Parts: sequence; structure tokens; C-alpha cells
Amino acid sequence: MAQKFDTLAVHAGAEPDPATGAVAPPIQLSTTFVHRTDGEPDTFSYQRDDHPTQCRLETALAALEGGARALTFASGMAAVAAVLDTLQRGQTVVVPEDCYVGTRGYVTDVLPERGVEVITVDTTDLDAVRAACAGGVALLWAESPSNPRLRISDLAEMTKIAHAAGARLACDNTFATPVLQRPLELGADVVMHSTTKYFGGHSDVLGGALIFAENDDFAERIAARRLLTGAILSPFSAWLTLRGCRSLPARMAMHCANARKVAEFLAAHSAIERVNWPGLPTHPGHAIAKHQMRDFGAMLSVELRSGYDAALALARGTKIFTNATSLGGCESLIEHRASSEGAHTHSPPGLVRLSVGLEDADDLIEDLAHCLCDRP
Ligand SMILES: *Cc1c(COP(=O)(O)O)cnc(C)c1O
Repeated sequence: MAQKFDTLAVHAGAEPDPATGAVAPPIQLSTTFVHRTDGEPDTFSYQRDDHPTQCRLETALAALEGGARALTFASGMAAVAAVLDTLQRGQTVVVPEDCYVGTRGYVTDVLPERGVEVITVDTTDLDAVRAACAGGVALLWAESPSNPRLRISDLAEMTKIAHAAGARLACDNTFATPVLQRPLELGADVVMHSTTKYFGGHSDVLGGALIFAENDDFAERIAARRLLTGAILSPFSAWLTLRGCRSLPARMAMHCANARKVAEFLAAHSAIERVNWPGLPTHPGHAIAKHQMRDFGAMLSVELRSGYDAALALARGTKIFTNATSLGGCESLIEHRASSEGAHTHSPPGLVRLSVGLEDADDLIEDLAHCLCDRP
């Protein structure tokens, strides 16, 4: 019988160490591995190629996303770059208008230099996606829910459009995690994660991952490039991320429950113009999110009626929400995106992004309430 998700989260890649019987996996720091002399191929050779701790993590990630193969990287951006670097001169990539600022930076600053054409569209508008793909496209990039506006794109429909155009569909699944959304089941070819966020879960380990639907030439090419560019995950980082996998479903359940309470409080507050959280029935992507996600996640953004200064004051005024970038840790974070994203920002001036953590939801709400002035 196929194991269910929560069981896989605890057990995938967790076989006891055959040498010692250790239940917790060892961290193998060795950079080199003895060559076999019995004619069998070496299991491991050199750490930049592959190493046992990373191998365990990749087994777990492939199982959790339902993929044929996973590759881990030194950061989420290294994983983004590994996919985008497969594009060649004369090819086209279609990317979402609202997406992670680093992804936008890479497609804006790096790809055009190499003769790759970049088309930016609002991927919540399927007609716009279809039109963008009409001229021939090699890769369609999806990010749903998106950063920082929490836009929801229909992944199954985007996959159909990509495949009809002969393109691959890649999905940044960092905000949802496979607990809430499994893009490969919706037809995506490759899923990307910043494992720095919910997988690591404790704001103490950087990493990225790609999970492939098929273990094909595309996956092999990216694996071969990773060996050449050296963007591998270190043994300690792989070990911490693997440890994060074990509690991921439990953490996500509490993250989502807290986010619902925080979002409902904010949606009723007079200082708030708009709450971007797909779990609210008023969110334009609510119906699609309900269909393609198991729950709505714990990332949300709010737009303040009083704009830039009020948004900055909120981000700087909270006591429990820490004013810092990143997301997905146990502690709640708050950030004014427009002032922190730098040159590539598209964020509205009054937008504040929240990563709802694992504190008591009532404390989180009280913290926000103290910093928001009621408006008549
Ligand atoms: C953080 C993040 C990335 C980049 O990952 P790093 O680990 O910081 O390199 C990519 N996409 C999303 C949605 C992110 O939140």
C-alpha cells in the first residue's frame, strides 16, 4: 500500500544508518568516497557530485512532491537559475507579473544578455497566458500563490497551455509546500522550492530544490550542470532541511489555522484597504485556490489605506511580528516590501507582507491591533 503524505514526511529518506543502526540520519561530511574495486559502480564519489545526506533529502522531496527525481541546491535562487539556464539563445520564457523578486531579477538582468526572450504576463489571466505563448515558448513559469500579492494562477490550465505550445511548466511552490499543493499532479513538469522557507522551517538553513515529474534528459542535464557549477547543498544544510521535512505537515496545519484568524481580523479592520489571502471568499483566486490547494497557506499581504508611511510604521511597530525578510519559520515576520525589494520591486507602496508563524493567534492579532489606528 502506498504510504500517505504524513507518513512519507516522517519516513522518506529516513532509513536507519546501516553502519551503526542510528535512527537519526548521520551527517556525512566526507568530500570523497573510496572507489569500489569489485567492478560495481561507485555509489558516491565526490561531494560536489552527490553525497549521502543530500541523497536522503532528495529521496524525501521526490516522495513529498510525487516526483520521479529531486535535486537540491545551495539556495532557492540556485534552483531557479538551474531551470532558467537551460534556455538557449532565441528561446522564450513566459513569467508571471507577480513573482519572487529574485526570479524577476534573473529574467530581467541575466537572460536577455544571453539572447533569451522574456515575456511577462498576469498569469491569473489565462487568455493573456495563451496570447503570450502563441508565438512559441520553451518554458512557462508559474508561482501560485505568488509573492507578494498572493495571486492565484490556475496550474492545471497553465499546464495545458504550456504543453499545447510545446513548452515545459515550472512552478515555484515555496509558499504552498507539497502539504497544500502538488503541482506535478496538476501536470507541471518541474517544481521549484526555496527550502529556506517552510521546509527548513526555523529560519536557520538556506537551500533550494527542483522536483521533476520524469527522470528524463531535462533532469539529467540540470544534474550534470549542478556538478559543473557546484551549486550543491552542504551536508549540514541537507541534514537540517531533512529534519524540517519530518514536522512539515504539523507545522503547516498550525501556520494555516493562525493565518486564517489573522487574515479575518485584518479584513475587518478599518485601516486596511485590502487583505491578500486566498482563503478569504472575497479573494479573486479563492475558487481556484480551493480547488487546487488543501488549505490556503500562511503568507498574506495587506494594503493600508494610508499608504507608504502607515505601512512602514506597521512593519516597524509590531513587537511579536519581527520586521525582517524571508518567511516560513516558527516566528512571525512582517516586512514592507517596496522599501526592501530594491530595484526590481513592483510592490504597491502601502503593501506589508506577513509570514504568520506558530505563536498563539490571539497574541499575533493583539500585536497588529496595537499598531493599526482605527479610521472612521
Ligand atoms: C525566498 C524565495 C525564493 C528564493 O530562495 P532563496 O533560498 O532565498 O534563494 C524563491 N521563490 C520564492 C517564492 C521565495 O520566497
